[in-house]
Amino acid sequence: MSSDGTPALATALQGIRGAVRQDVALAPFTHLRIGGNADWFVEPYAEEDAARVVAICHELGAPIHILGGGSNLVVADSGVRGVVLYLGNLNRIVRDGSRVTAGAGCTLPSLLRTTKDAGLAGLERLTGIPAQVGGAVAMNAGTRDGETFDQLVSLTVVERDGTIAVRGPDAFSPSYRNGGLGGAIVLQAAFELENDSPQAIFDRFSASLKARNATQPVTQRSVGCVFQNPAGDAAGRLIEASDGKSMARGAVTVSDLHANYFLNNGGGSAADFMALVADVRSRVRDRHGVELELEVQLWGF
Ligand SMILES: Cc1cc2nc3c(=O)[nH]c(=O)nc-3n(C[C@H](O)[C@H](O)[C@H](O)COP(=O)(O)OP(=O)(O)OC[C@H]3O[C@@H](n4cnc5c(N)ncnc54)[C@H](O)[C@@H]3O)c2cc1C
Repeated sequence: MSSDGTPALATALQGIRGAVRQDVALAPFTHLRIGGNADWFVEPYAEEDAARVVAICHELGAPIHILGGGSNLVVADSGVRGVVLYLGNLNRIVRDGSRVTAGAGCTLPSLLRTTKDAGLAGLERLTGIPAQVGGAVAMNAGTRDGETFDQLVSLTVVERDGTIAVRGPDAFSPSYRNGGLGGAIVLQAAFELENDSPQAIFDRFSASLKARNATQPVTQRSVGCVFQNPAGDAAGRLIEASDGKSMARGAVTVSDLHANYFLNNGGGSAADFMALVADVRSRVRDRHGVELELEVQLWGF
């Protein structure tokens, strides 16, 4: 048996209801379209199967990564070992009055459309974020209008040993772009919303999208903001003020629309991306004495 327990993993994963595949390219699952393969790629049909995959990895000591919409990920060119768990099938949305519960694999745009049509307001502050619900909770994704934890009232999670639990938001420590989940994996999230007219929600939704489209390269391959905003400042402003908009490594360039976005213009590699991260960090450190912290999540480095 190899050190990561691969033959035992192969046997154990046979019992999972869902697609279980070996050696799967991860680049198509990321917005940046960069990165190597996963040893195992598992798409369970149901929450119990997702929990079972987590328990199996725990028992066998196999590495596990949870993939959402891939909109905040850079995967190493050499890929990742062990299991990538993709929860795209857990995408149900259930309404109970003003409370809406969404599966981790439901996309935010689809959840926002559903809640808008139902006349339930609050989530439109997350307009334009190309996440799945699980990834939005894990990152506490947000905009200047608010963040994912603002309306969150309960989470169904699977702990790293495979136990499923339902917890209130007080059980976690959310902060800026970090859900503070302590390793828990989101299966479902419940949001308490407010009644409003679908037209009023749509108007706010459209205004946010319009502003976003004018200031961010939304149609190009990126991971959104590469760096967190330092307290009282904006990473994009610091990069621009450091003449960073002309910087590039291979096919990966700093966006000239928003300097905190790096673009894969086709054929870029994770090595290019990381080299550009190092160059930009060093430039901002030299010019402004600020150490930029990564917002983007790195897998396999
Ligand atoms: C064009 C563009 C615009 C963006 N704009 C914004 C913005 O305005 N605000 C903002 O905050 N972000 C923004 N982002 C970044 C990104 O959308 C968010 O960070 C988002 O929360 C990532 O969600 P995801 O589902 O794509 O997660 P992924 O990128 O797949 O994963 C991100 C992290 O979440 C973890 N994760 C995923 N699913 C789960 C789960 N079910 N349980 C536990 N952990 C999980 C992953 O393991 C990983 O660590 C933008 C990105 C792009 C490409």
